[in-house]
Formats: sequence, C-alpha cells, structure tokens
Amino acid sequence: MTAPLGPLDSSLTPRFAGPATFARLPRLDQVESADIAVVGVPFDTGVSYRPGARFGPAHIRESSRLLRPYHPGLDVAPFEIAQVVDAGDIAVNPYHIPSALETVQEAASDLAASGTRLLTIGGDHTIALPLLRAAAERHGPVAMVHFDAHLDTWDTYFGEPYTHGTPFRRAVEEGLLDTEAISHVGTRGPLYGKRDLEDDRRFGFGIVTSADVYRKGVDEVVAGLRDRLGARPVYLSIDIDVLDPAHAPGTGTPEAGGLTSRELLEVLRGLAGLNVVGADVVEVAPAYDHAEITGIAAAHVAYDLIALMALTGQG
Ligand code: MN
Ligand code: MN
Repeated sequence: MTAPLGPLDSSLTPRFAGPATFARLPRLDQVESADIAVVGVPFDTGVSYRPGARFGPAHIRESSRLLRPYHPGLDVAPFEIAQVVDAGDIAVNPYHIPSALETVQEAASDLAASGTRLLTIGGDHTIALPLLRAAAERHGPVAMVHFDAHLDTWDTYFGEPYTHGTPFRRAVEEGLLDTEAISHVGTRGPLYGKRDLEDDRRFGFGIVTSADVYRKGVDEVVAGLRDRLGARPVYLSIDIDVLDPAHAPGTGTPEAGGLTSRELLEVLRGLAGLNVVGADVVEVAPAYDHAEITGIAAAHVAYDLIALMALTGQG
C-alpha cells in the first residue's frame, strides 16, 4: 500500500495560496481510493429563520487553511494514517426539498460504496436525514450523538415534513437510528411546550443539556455517552449552533447559553476509539459570521471528526 497523498506542503505553498480544498487536502479525483472524504452540501432550503447555510461549505473550507497535520490532543496524524480527500460539493436542487434529499442520499451512498467514510459539511440540518439513510443502508440502524441547541425532532413546519427542525423525528420513524443509543448534547433555549420534550423522550433520545455540560463537566458527560454507545456504529451530527453565539455567531437559529468551542472539542476528543462511521457539521451561515469565528470553529470541529474517523480505521 502506498502512503496517503497528504495536504499541500505549507513550507512550499503558502497557506493563503492554492485551491481551497478542506485543510488543503487532495481532491478525490487525485487518488485511487479514499478512507475518509469531506463533502459539501450547499443547501439551505429547509431553514426556519435566517437563510445562508448554502454558503457554509465554501466558508468552512476557506477557514480550514491553517489546520496542521498533527493532532496533539489525540496523538494522531490523521492524514498520514488514512487517505483523506475533499470530494467537492453535492449539487442539489435549491427549489425542491424532496429531490434535494434524494440527490444527497444517492451521492452519499455512491461515495461510501467502497467503504469511504464521509464527513459532510453543510448546509442546513435537513441534510442529516438523507445522510443517515445512506449510513443505515450500509450499517443498519446507527447510534447517534447529536450536538445542537435544538432537538430537531419536531413534526412539521407549515405542514412540511422535511425541514431543518425535523430530521431526527423522520429518522426514528424510518428506522434509521439505533434508539437504544441516541442522545442530544447541548440542548437549551425555549421550546414550544413541554410536549416537545415528551415526544423526544418517547423516540428514545437521551438529553445532555448545555447546562449539564457546564455543571457536570466534560469528563462525566463523556463517560455517560461512551457507556451508552459501546461498540455500536455511531454517527456524529454537529449543528454549529450547539456553540454559544459568542463562539459561533454565523448560524441560522442562535440561542444564548451554549457550549464553548473548547468544551465541544473536548467532548469530541473524549469519544476517541468509538466506531465512528460518519459525521456532519451543519448550519454555518457565513453572512452572520465575523472574523471567521464560526468558520474556524467549524473547521476545527471537522478536523477533530476526521481524526476520530481515522482512529476508527485503526482498529
Ligand atoms: Mn440548531
Ligand atoms: Mn439542528
């Protein structure tokens, strides 16, 4: 086996030059096969408040130029132990949600056909549904940790079943999730009513609120999650609004009282060694971002997710 083709060498090509692939990684068409592919889904037709996440993939890539190849927190050089590539964007219909979901599911299935694991950058959270459909095709119902200010298990908006507030109710209904091991992390903010929480519990979700992360601390939260996940195939879905607006202002439905980027990264690092089969980072809306705060947070979260998947491949 040949060594993986790595990112552009920053001692030869400055970080501010060259194509904006994620972390300056090679494109999918430059390699024979990939262990992990970063793929963008520039889609935001499912949003309920501020639009603009269709520009998220390009913004996260631009904010990823400073990522370096060695991860000291996890003691891993993810691009050396796995072939990681940028697979570009999935071109979706911006006018018709159901056909967009079909396109995402088909493209994700094709990319994953030879065992490539996907890190998807969004895009609004609607896209988690077709990504989970593709993951479940391959692995059966998957465990999930869902990092988000919101539950995203509502039923419909304006009578529409496929929106960024409903993907996980649909996923449970479609049997895509292993309901013995699904949890939200970072939940906070006002709800429509207590019924929202009752429904969510009925679907099988555990909840680690944003206040729990603060009061219990990262280690206790991680221990609880690991306990529940065990060796199951697990999908990690990260809505960037899990972070406090101070750490991620550039998003569609911000809520006060969120995690710091340090807390989120530490919880993710605590999941090292689990069987991570896929992940997404969604809801980055650059028009509301300042100084790349949100883009940089999303790029680092994506890098940590790649590191977790590279470690999964080891064993
Ligand atoms: Mn959210
Ligand atoms: Mn969400």
